[in-house]
Amino acid sequence: MAYGSYLSGTTPRLGYPPDMLILTDPRCREHRPPPGHPECRERLEAVERTLRREAPDLEWRTPKSATFRELSAIHTKEHIERVREACRNAPAQIDPDTFASPGTEEAALLAAGAARDAARAALAGTPAMALVRPPGHHATRDRAMGFCLFNNVALAALQAKRVLIVDWDVHHGNGTQDIFYENPDVLYFSTHRAPFYPGSGARTETGAGRGLGFTINRPFPHNTRRGTFLEEFFEVIEGPCRRFDADLVLISAGFDAWKDDPIGGLNLEVEDFAELTRVVLGLKKPTASVLEGGYDLDALPRCVLAHLNVLNGRP
Ligand SMILES: [Zn+2]
Repeated sequence: MAYGSYLSGTTPRLGYPPDMLILTDPRCREHRPPPGHPECRERLEAVERTLRREAPDLEWRTPKSATFRELSAIHTKEHIERVREACRNAPAQIDPDTFASPGTEEAALLAAGAARDAARAALAGTPAMALVRPPGHHATRDRAMGFCLFNNVALAALQAKRVLIVDWDVHHGNGTQDIFYENPDVLYFSTHRAPFYPGSGARTETGAGRGLGFTINRPFPHNTRRGTFLEEFFEVIEGPCRRFDADLVLISAGFDAWKDDPIGGLNLEVEDFAELTRVVLGLKKPTASVLEGGYDLDALPRCVLAHLNVLNGRP
């Protein structure tokens, strides 16, 4: 019954599929770690060049910057103040891997804002990706680390009541896990290489308090076969993730699990990111994606394109 399914919300779209949104801003390139740092401005330049050529139907939009007030819902006041202080004193080093340059504060606020806007677009029926840097999933409630200042995907998760975050970056998203560890309204599912940076993400880390059971970690040793990885990913999505019945699905989309990534490497091929996306879309929920890692300047654009071609509803 057409009306019934529409009114009950089971038919999220009517008519033509909406254009897919890319949320990004050239100022995200002005976060400049020292020369030779893998998390460099060329990452976004390479992705944008490829997408403009290969996916001309994407709709590009500038996000609204996140405010410090919004960020205080996921970070401590002390953390926000420390990041601002480092940005005021730029160039500054925040941790062994994490730096602030004169453009960093603006870039970080735009990155978090883009993730928030991507979530809102998805909830309104338009699939969206925040194509941003600095990345966010290592930023804990009170600490910047691992190239990350503010947790972009965590801000996106505040836009709905029940949220599933799927994090397939090759590194464990310790920051996202930390922020939602005791929260039963956010199911955090991470696949990652282990042992590896940042050292967290054991299978036994499953949440705490009311959030017990709402964190799912699947660590994979170096040289895991891609078939094993994909099978386990499918099982978790189709099992606990489907049962969770989220209002919104967010993908912490890192592409450093690609087989030859200079700092990651978990044997995934470019087309595997299309398959991972297909599996997540099988949940049939509003879905937005936020760029995390991925450091090979040739493979990253191809991985993002493979991901977006599926997110965009193409076969
Ligand atoms: Zn990573």
